[in-house]
Amino acid sequence: MDNLDRVTETGQGKIFASSSIYETIKDLCLLGSRFSGTKSEIEAQEYMKNFIENLGIEPVEYEFEYIGWYRGTSIFFLQTEETKPFPAFSLVYSPSTEDEGFVGKIVDGGGGSETELKRIQEEVKGNIVMIHSGETEEGWLHRRIKYANSVNLGAKAFLFANHNPGQLFPTGSVRSNRLGEIPAVGISKETYEYIKEQIRRKENVNGKIYVLNHSSKTTSKHIIWEIEGEKKDEVIVIGGHYDGHDLAQGATDNAGSVAALLELTKLMKEINYVPKRTIRFIAFGVEEFGVVGSTIYVNKTDVSNVVAMINVDGLVGHIPKNIACGGNEELYKLIGEIEDEIVFKPSKSKTIITASDNYPFLLKGIPNVCIYGQNPDPRTGRGYGHTSADTFDKISKLDAKLSLAFIFSFLTLFVSLDELPGRISEKEVITLLREAKLEDNLKLLEKWPFN
Ligand SMILES: [Zn+2]
Repeated sequence: MDNLDRVTETGQGKIFASSSIYETIKDLCLLGSRFSGTKSEIEAQEYMKNFIENLGIEPVEYEFEYIGWYRGTSIFFLQTEETKPFPAFSLVYSPSTEDEGFVGKIVDGGGGSETELKRIQEEVKGNIVMIHSGETEEGWLHRRIKYANSVNLGAKAFLFANHNPGQLFPTGSVRSNRLGEIPAVGISKETYEYIKEQIRRKENVNGKIYVLNHSSKTTSKHIIWEIEGEKKDEVIVIGGHYDGHDLAQGATDNAGSVAALLELTKLMKEINYVPKRTIRFIAFGVEEFGVVGSTIYVNKTDVSNVVAMINVDGLVGHIPKNIACGGNEELYKLIGEIEDEIVFKPSKSKTIITASDNYPFLLKGIPNVCIYGQNPDPRTGRGYGHTSADTFDKISKLDAKLSLAFIFSFLTLFVSLDELPGRISEKEVITLLREAKLEDNLKLLEKWPFN
C-alpha cells in the first residue's frame, strides 16, 4: 500500500466515524454572523486560533486595514394613496440618506443589466431603481454590477429584491472596500411583486427610503497556518472566508468551508500526514465586503512560492461539488485525470469565478480553483445564501461528512500531483479575462487592475 492509499483509507475512515465537522460548523454559526467589524468576527478568530493551537500548530495572524461599514436603521415606505411601510435592510456599503430620507418614483429595472436599464434610462435618472437578484437579459450578473449600472445611469436609490420567495431579504456589498454612491436596500420577493403590481395599475408609484449607516477605517485579520510538505518551498494555499453577512449565520456561506479547513488540519495531524508540498491554510476575513481581505493579502505579501490556490466558498451544504478551474486549460485537464479517484466525482468547469478569494490569486497568474456545492433544489441562484435563512439547520450531518471527505481526497490528490501547471504572465491573465468577455464587467466592479 503506498503512502497516498494509506492516507486515503485512514483519513476517510476517520471522517465517517466522527461528527466533528458538523459540531464545528454549528460552533461557528452559534458565534453569530462573523460579519466584519462585529464581536462575533473577533470570536471566530479566537475560536480558529484555539482550534489550531490545540493541534500543536502555531497560527499566524495577518492584520490589515479596510473601510468598515456598520449597519444602522433602514426604513422603506411605498407611497401611493396611503403610505405603507415594508421591511427593508441596507446592503453593505450603502451610504445614509439625508435626514428626511429620499423620495422618488420607483422604476422597475428588471434584472439590472445595462440593456434593461438603458431602455428606461430617462426614468431611471433621479429616481429609485428596483432590481431583482435573478438572471438578467444578459445572463447572471453580480449585484455590484447591477448597482454600478444604476449609479452610472443616474439612479438616486437602489431597491434590491430577492428573486426567491419566503419573505427573505437579500444582502451583499454594493462596492468593494468603499462606500457606495446611492442608498441601497434589500426587499423580499413578496414586497417586490406587490410593488410591481402597483406599478402596473398606477402611473406613479413613489417610494421613500430612509437609511442611516456608518463607515470608517478599521482592521481585520486572516488566520493562517501551515502543514509543512516534503517540498517546503512549494506552497499550495487552501483558503475560504470566515466572515458572513450580519443578517445570517452564514452557514453554507461560509462557516461550512472554514470548518472543513479546521477539520482537514486536525485529520492530517491525527494521521501524521506529510504532504508532498506545503499546505497553507488561510481563513480569510472581509470577503463579503467585495473580496477585500484576500486582495490585500495577495498584493502585500510575498506569494512567489505559492504554486496553486484552492478556494472553498460554499463547500458544505450541497452535492455534487463543482470545481471551477479559472479558465486554466491545463488545470482542467489535470483535474480530469484525478476526478475518478476523488471520493465522488465532481462536476468541473472552466468558469472564472471573480467574486471570491481565488480571484486575487488569479490576477497574479497563480493556477487556482474555486470549489462550491451546486444548488440542486428549485431555489435558484443564491438560494438561502446572503439571507437570514442561511443557518446551520440547512446542513445535514451527512452533507458535512461527505463534503469533508470530498475536499480531503481532492486536496491530498492535488498536493501529490507530479507536475502542476505553471504561473501565467500578466499579459496572459489579461488575454484570459478578455477572451472570457469579463473585462467590461470587471471594470464596473473596480476589479481590473490593469491599464
Ligand atoms: Zn462566500
